[in-house]
Amino acid sequence: MHELPHYNECPHCYAPAAVRADGGCLACGRRRDDTEGVDPRMTAVTVDVRHELPCCCFLCGADTDRGKTLSYLSNPARGPMGWLVGLLPGSTRSRRHRQLMPVCGPCTPQLKGLRPITFKAGQEMRLRVHKRFRALYEGVNGRPHLDWG
Ligand SMILES: [Zn+2]
Ligand SMILES: [Zn+2]
Repeated sequence: MHELPHYNECPHCYAPAAVRADGGCLACGRRRDDTEGVDPRMTAVTVDVRHELPCCCFLCGADTDRGKTLSYLSNPARGPMGWLVGLLPGSTRSRRHRQLMPVCGPCTPQLKGLRPITFKAGQEMRLRVHKRFRALYEGVNGRPHLDWG
């Protein structure tokens, strides 16, 4: 086992990003000392959809054995033309994906409208999660290699 070098996670976008000279995050531009809207209990993790998930609500960190389907659209259509294209049968513009996630009862309503930060359809998705979920997930599956691609 080797430890990955520690990186500084942005409290706003959770990217393991460097900080600009002016103090802003290289990924999202917000300052590290700006705490507005920051929830220190939350972080982000990349979930490999083939991996085993811990029995821990990914939104609040509570123990749960409930599974709920996270359902999201791959490409939300933008603008009037995008909206039209999205309605066409067989359109690849906007596809619905589903992923079973451990979610406790009280957090279930939060699933509505929730989208991953980024994702590769059918492979992995980067989600805003509770720190306990991330710790348990990494305990089961190991920490992923950083992918700077
Ligand atoms: Zn950021
Ligand atoms: Zn919960």
